Amino acid sequence: MGIDEDSLEYHRQDPPGKLEINTTKPTNTQRDLSLAYSPGVAAPCLEIADDADKAYSYTAKGNLVGVVSNGSAVLGLGDIGAQASKPVMEGKGVLFKRFADIDVFDIELDQTDPDDLIRSVKAMEPTFGGVNLEDIKAPECFEIEERLREEMSIPVFHDDQHGTAIISGAALINAADVVGKDLADLDIVFSGAGASAIATARFYVSLGAKTENITMCDSTGIITKQRADDGEVNEFKREFARDRQEGTLSDALADADVFVGLSVGGIVSQEMVRSMADDPIIFAMANPDPEITYEDAKDARDDTVIMATGRSDYPNQVNNVLGFPFIFRGALDVRATEINEAMKVAAAEALAELARQDVPDAVVKAYGDQPLQFGPEYIIPKPLDPRVLFEVAPAVARAAEDSGAARKELDMERYVERLEA
Ligand code: NAP
Ligand code: MG
Repeated sequence: MGIDEDSLEYHRQDPPGKLEINTTKPTNTQRDLSLAYSPGVAAPCLEIADDADKAYSYTAKGNLVGVVSNGSAVLGLGDIGAQASKPVMEGKGVLFKRFADIDVFDIELDQTDPDDLIRSVKAMEPTFGGVNLEDIKAPECFEIEERLREEMSIPVFHDDQHGTAIISGAALINAADVVGKDLADLDIVFSGAGASAIATARFYVSLGAKTENITMCDSTGIITKQRADDGEVNEFKREFARDRQEGTLSDALADADVFVGLSVGGIVSQEMVRSMADDPIIFAMANPDPEITYEDAKDARDDTVIMATGRSDYPNQVNNVLGFPFIFRGALDVRATEINEAMKVAAAEALAELARQDVPDAVVKAYGDQPLQFGPEYIIPKPLDPRVLFEVAPAVARAAEDSGAARKELDMERYVERLEA
């Protein structure tokens, strides 16, 4: 059977779907039930009515994330609508649980208007410790997230934007290190100017890259000041408009140090790779087919080519699951009011640092005994490496404390021990 048939069977097996709700307190006696519900439940209600923060002590809020989508930009499937996006959102819930023991309500909203969506999500603030926005299309996703971040005092994080930014940002830190280049000097070319590309470019600037060294291409070619002045591009693309001649991706790539592909498969040729600067860094992250294949990029030239893709069957997989479970773990554990830039940078740096350490045998085994040692073929940790939790969550929690986003202080040593247990 192919993967489609297998997947239908997997989802169809009784009970349908892949998540359920469990109780965490005794429910065996009449007494238990009158504590869980009426009349006993009134006591915690009144405590919370008095002090809203007590919701973290008496309810599941603090470990509950809303995965919210309107189904307008689902995986590679496009605008399939809210109902059809539910398997993806339930799947996101599975990953939150499996990697960070975070519970999820998946919320599919049949709303396309940003104002409606913002109103709905905002109204759910009492329910959740954090909100993961998912698969909402650009450019609306930028405004939706920005306004919710302003108006809500729990973390709101659009994973399609920041997940890719953070994981590939960790890869960039290490790739630059391997080829001996400084982030501030890197000439970086993006293919794609959508949700993930804009957020990734912004994040690379937070990591030390220079806006003036970034060239962004959309489906029409290089985003120039001229095109921006002519009103051809939206305000988010305008942020990265370059004062240079109009041209194609191929023109942009000549002498570039880094290619970042967040567009469509198969649009980069070996010729283009050969036109890049020494030891090029190529992150071809279009899914399922990268902008150029691993083999073609590697074979294009004789110097070091550092290659990352979104695929699990090649080295350096940029996989969002390396980020969101652990970032939310750290944020929830300090009851953070937001996931701010400092926390994202801390996550990327923790991932980069972890990739420079020796990898435990068990992890090497889980990946079919391929050599996992810091270098061109291993610049980011593997998702099944349990150390990612112990490194990233505390780094994010610490950054939340240092940046004033934490509502609760942790004894870090004990926190790490608890995560490891
Ligand atoms: P998006 O918001 O729809 O943006 C897609 C961008 O690609 C748009 O700016 C579009 O240009 C551009 N584009 C389309 N055809 C192109 C072409 N022939 N040449 C150059 N640019 C072209 O999508 P997204 O969510 O950012 O995702 C983009 C891609 O990255 C997808 O393949 C997605 O699977 C992949 N991705 C991978 C990861 C990962 O590996 N971890 C994470 C996120 C996304 P216009 O603006 O002109 O329409
Ligand atoms: Mg997504």
